Amino acid sequence: MSHVFPRHSKSQPPVAVGGEGVWLIDAEGKRYLDGSGGAAVSCLGHGDPEITQAIKDQLDKLAFAHTGFLTSEPAEALADLLIDHAPGDLDRVYFVSGGSEATEAAIKLARQYWVEKGELQRSRLIARKQSYHGNTIGALSAGGNEWRRQQFGPLLLDMSHIAPCYDYRDRAEAESPEEYGLRAANALKDEIERLGPETVMAFMAEPVVGATAGALPPVPGYFRRIREICDEYGILLILDEVMCGMGRTGTLFACEQDGVEPDILCIAKGLGAGYQPIGAMLCTSAIYDTIAKGSGFFQHGHTYIGHPVATAAGLAVVRAILDRGLLPQVRQKGEALQQKLEARFGQHAHVGDIRGRGLFRGIELVQDRATKAPFDPALGIAGKIKKAAFAEGLICYPMSGTIDGRQGDHVLLAPPFIISEAEMDQLVERLGRAIDAVL
Ligand code: PLP
Repeated sequence: MSHVFPRHSKSQPPVAVGGEGVWLIDAEGKRYLDGSGGAAVSCLGHGDPEITQAIKDQLDKLAFAHTGFLTSEPAEALADLLIDHAPGDLDRVYFVSGGSEATEAAIKLARQYWVEKGELQRSRLIARKQSYHGNTIGALSAGGNEWRRQQFGPLLLDMSHIAPCYDYRDRAEAESPEEYGLRAANALKDEIERLGPETVMAFMAEPVVGATAGALPPVPGYFRRIREICDEYGILLILDEVMCGMGRTGTLFACEQDGVEPDILCIAKGLGAGYQPIGAMLCTSAIYDTIAKGSGFFQHGHTYIGHPVATAAGLAVVRAILDRGLLPQVRQKGEALQQKLEARFGQHAHVGDIRGRGLFRGIELVQDRATKAPFDPALGIAGKIKKAAFAEGLICYPMSGTIDGRQGDHVLLAPPFIISEAEMDQLVERLGRAIDAVL
């Protein structure tokens, strides 16, 4: 009997023993096509010799030095590389061990920034309903996913959640995408006014919504209007690219495609590509300098921040994404995957929307295509598809719709950037068999 505390206690998962490219292999020798890179993690696939070599080299030099005393060569080099390519005035990188730590740190940094500026009344964070920002208490409070929040309600911080930018469901027929984008973004202005602008510290959003909405991109202009509103009220814009960042949508940072520059940016998952646990929070020099010239100490920190081996892995991963020309490949393969999904599911009675950017694609499943009525979440359609796909040797990331009871189930796909045309065909075929088995 296993003594590991698993995610799901009702079944015992197979034991993974190997990985090659887009494939994972279990102890029985069964091969699984990693169609979602776990949860949009394994952007370079499994068993990349360059990344494992970089980790071994760093281990031979130095495994750990506590950042309370020392910095390290790979942490410095990775921060430089990220800032060289980061949008806008982002200038400092705070390394953490994963996504929840990155968003949690961002929330605390936003608060401390206002405290240092003497605006103690600014403590409200506004986020969106279709969002997931992590599972620690602060990050969970920011996220809007009811299923994840439910039982922890009494422990959560009081934060606001506005409607997301959800073209498929919320754009009126008479509206252009741009008109809808303005209307959706103006929900932020309304909420700021409702709360009292002087109490709001930041707005947090995923540029392309991942786990809770299935690769939901914004319409053109939405984030530019969001930036304008934040600037009008002097509110910080935090973008959470933990899932959609690091090349997943075809640009190193997802927000580049929306022409928006955040004050704080969170990344993780693809940064370590699964080779090491690492995340990061990037902030502007204006934020950093406020603290540096004020108290001089960000009241945060975990033991493993800036870990030399994790940052060495991150450095090798970002270099690989850039130097191997993977970004244009993600854009081209992403278009090909979209076409394959449309060819297979475009006329499916229960597929309402096929969407996404780059190799970050989602299928929204509905009970009725005409009315867009979702399935009852209690049916657990997404979970059944996950199980059927796994039996077919496919790993994908389904989620049942739970937000305000008006969202469909969806399947999220985020394969490694190295996926071949033939492997994409296999992915779509296996997913098709899994969906057919359930619906
Ligand atoms: N933010 C987003 C957008 C995510 O998708 C996730 C994880 O799925 C997180 C934060 C939390 O990241 P982690 O699971 O690494 O703590």
